[in-house]
Amino acid sequence: VMVFAGLYTATDQIILLTPQTAQSVLVNSTAATVVEFYASWCGHCIAFSPIYKNLARDIKEWKPAVDLAAIDCSEENNRKVCTNYSIKGYPTIKFFNAYSKPDSKGKPLRGYSRDVRDLRQAIIDQLEKHEEPWPPACPPLEPASEAEIDSFFETNNVQHLALIFEQSKSFIGKEVTLDLLQFENIAVRRVLSTEEALVSKLGVTDFPSCYLYYPGGNFTRLQVKFEARMFYSYALQRLPGVVRSGKPAPNKNILKSNRTDEPWRPFNASRVYMADLESTLHYSLRVEVSAFPVIKGDALKSLKKYISVLAKYFPGRPVVMNLLKSADSWLHNVSRSEVSYDAFRALLDNTEQAPDTALPEGVRWVGCQGSQPHFRGFPCGVWTLFHVLTVQAMNSGASDGLVVLSAMRDYVHVFFGCRPCAEHFESMAQESLTEVSHSSTAVLWLWSRHNRVNNRLAGALSEDPYFPKIQWPSPEMCSVCHTVKVNGDHKWDLDQVLVFLTSYFSNTSILTDYLD
Ligand code: FAD
Repeated sequence: VMVFAGLYTATDQIILLTPQTAQSVLVNSTAATVVEFYASWCGHCIAFSPIYKNLARDIKEWKPAVDLAAIDCSEENNRKVCTNYSIKGYPTIKFFNAYSKPDSKGKPLRGYSRDVRDLRQAIIDQLEKHEEPWPPACPPLEPASEAEIDSFFETNNVQHLALIFEQSKSFIGKEVTLDLLQFENIAVRRVLSTEEALVSKLGVTDFPSCYLYYPGGNFTRLQVKFEARMFYSYALQRLPGVVRSGKPAPNKNILKSNRTDEPWRPFNASRVYMADLESTLHYSLRVEVSAFPVIKGDALKSLKKYISVLAKYFPGRPVVMNLLKSADSWLHNVSRSEVSYDAFRALLDNTEQAPDTALPEGVRWVGCQGSQPHFRGFPCGVWTLFHVLTVQAMNSGASDGLVVLSAMRDYVHVFFGCRPCAEHFESMAQESLTEVSHSSTAVLWLWSRHNRVNNRLAGALSEDPYFPKIQWPSPEMCSVCHTVKVNGDHKWDLDQVLVFLTSYFSNTSILTDYLD
């Protein structure tokens, strides 16, 4: 069992300050930094921690301009840091300018609030007041004038200029500007509704609204479901030519030429393929589990649970189901407290020559193909498999809502070769798996935790540039899944998400192309 001191962990995208790191993070940094000084015993701090974590996810893309940090002042070792910053009560949230001096105490963040949107806007207020030197990664946030737009392409070498027309009090333009700061070939500027010449030139009548403006004065309106931050940011990040800084521009030919070992298999990116699910079974049972020559204790318990869930809910071909069922009853009947992997393997390989019972050999990724051999594949298959299993369990009316997630948790904990992944997943499970009771909540839990992982990994080295990590499903895949709160922030329509997941991962939607 992992124990975390403090209210945050390394997976929260919050820098955990220590006496050793505080100076290097807060002094002379190129990014501004927001710091929460807290005490882990303080009730308000505990209540606030999920909000601060949500804030970290919400403004993850702003990191090069403004980053989030936290320090537990109740920790003996950290005391001197908190005293040094004159912290008297908890939680205290302070904003440190970029290039702060060693004696800077930071500025309190306006009206400590329990709302992500207020905090986000308070951070923008501080950025706008930022004195020189301005954090270099932070784009201009002030409204653009007509003159500036007219000469924009003379001084800026970008493909797209997005203009967000809005009232002066609106934050959307500034938020979207920051959301795009890690993307190339696009610039975002806000234009106020009072900028009459531009407003009438483009015929703008809605505030906010977003227009793409091109050299020569051509323009088109960005079509979105809601005139809101997340819809603008998502659409702009996906315009042709727009790429994350430092990532190669996807080139369709690489897909065909770069994989020397196997030809590219064309596939529909919004469908589930049985070939991926069977490949995942092969890899997990013949490769991952084989790391345990003798399977006993937790490993045996975990393997039993995994196989039992597969035998019940895997929507497989008859040959595969026969295999899973015989493996399940074999494991169920072993009386010894340990089994050898070889004995288990003999069963998988069907050395007994039982007809119509087989686990196909080898991997054949389809929907989980990567543009390079080291991208996607097995971890993509693991997610897909367990999403499918949670949906099948729900559809079969499983009485134990947690049956699949509990098997997944144990499998990942014991066998999943990516150890940091396993730790992160375990910490999410410890944090909130107890909230899951019904099998439909299990489907949504796995979906939302997968999105947390996607948020954390967006832009990471392990991200395949052809398959960028998004908050899934996209508005194109499921328009009705997305809506907005009264305050304009994005909100998932969970009922619609559940309908979407149920159909997307249902056994009848799984494609069987590329199976032998
Ligand atoms: P994946 O994220 O693997 O998703 C596979 C497919 O599922 C997508 O193509 C999409 O069709 C669908 N999908 C995407 N999002 C959702 C969603 N929210 N709900 C339902 N379906 C969705 N990598 C790390 O670098 N660090 C980690 O800490 C880490 N933790 C992991 C924990 C687990 C349990 C697993 C299984 C994997 C983890 N990985 C981690 C790997 C990482 O999440 C991806 O699997 C990997 O980078 C491959 O990404 P992908 O593009 O194939 O998409």
